[in-house]
Amino acid sequence: MKIISVVGARPQFIKLGPLSRELRKNHEEFIIHTGQHYDAEMSDLFFEQLNIPEPDINLEIGSGKHGAQTGKMLEGIEEQIEQIKPDMVLSFGDTNSTLAACLAASKMEVPSLHIEAGLRSFNRSMPEEINRVVADHTADLLFAPTPEAVKHLEREGLKDRTILTGDIMADTFEYVHNNILGDHLPETEYYLLTLHRPYTVDDPEKLQKLLNMLSELDREVKFPVHPRTENIIDKNSIQVPDNIKLSPPQGYLEFQKLLKGCEKVITDSGGLQKEAYLAGKPCITIRPETEWVETVEAEWNMLLDAEDENVAGKIMDFTPKKVRPDLYGKNVAKRMVEEIVRWRSR
Ligand code: UDP
Repeated sequence: MKIISVVGARPQFIKLGPLSRELRKNHEEFIIHTGQHYDAEMSDLFFEQLNIPEPDINLEIGSGKHGAQTGKMLEGIEEQIEQIKPDMVLSFGDTNSTLAACLAASKMEVPSLHIEAGLRSFNRSMPEEINRVVADHTADLLFAPTPEAVKHLEREGLKDRTILTGDIMADTFEYVHNNILGDHLPETEYYLLTLHRPYTVDDPEKLQKLLNMLSELDREVKFPVHPRTENIIDKNSIQVPDNIKLSPPQGYLEFQKLLKGCEKVITDSGGLQKEAYLAGKPCITIRPETEWVETVEAEWNMLLDAEDENVAGKIMDFTPKKVRPDLYGKNVAKRMVEEIVRWRSR
């Protein structure tokens, strides 16, 4: 089979790693990078560290307004589909690159696969939520990471296209933690913080208030800063309290080391909530809702409003249960490739 994988943003490179390795055992894969994330530290480094083959094409679209960015991607992906004539186009997650891949493929009547389908925050003000819904409703095959995601797809009438596969990030996590990092990392006393969602960082006053609250924590806070957040901190002269140590965005390996060594995770990221769970780290999610509800149900993840009066106290007090059932599966990439082959020959 000839397959095009479309990626564009950091979390998608992380998901592509194990799948690409598995696909290439028996199939021909073309990687299209839309160029949505373009800094070396948000893109190239991940291809290197996760041993992902270089993209065959980089559309170099870069940042921009949603419409302009998605429009350029649609045009670029369409051209590539015309030239490559793939048997399938696959995409991951919920970015504009995902939306463009699913739309371009469906308009050209090429089968498309959406990986990490069925996630819902039910918050329509998130651009990601719109991307997910449209991607799921235009794709022909949906790989859902969790039973919760399957439920959402069933409710939307998409049951016949849905397969519960587990979460591909579990494979990346295992690959890096077992094959590269090993067990010999010292635990130290700090919290690990990431923030990049528009509703946490776009309002400078709200962001300043949150950082001030975090100054009341009992430990140092390591904060690798997403370029979007860095921009807002710089432009608005936000004062970062002394216990919060900023650094540039980290490579995947460096970041996983930070995760393994930390006491707790504080984040508004999607992927990091799962990685914290896999690593056995308590996670405090600074959002009103999450797509990864099973981590909250397992009591390893706690939702916390950025404007809560006792942010620091609640973070310090949060103590998860001891048990941590397997939520995301194992050997997910292998299962996915088997399901693709089965679907094609049905
Ligand atoms: N990550 C990383 N370096 C960093 C911050 C995050 O490698 O400095 C990884 C993190 O381990 C996770 C992914 O980036 O796998 C999460 O991406 P992000 O938060 O940008 O997106 P989301 O998951 O919210 O879509």
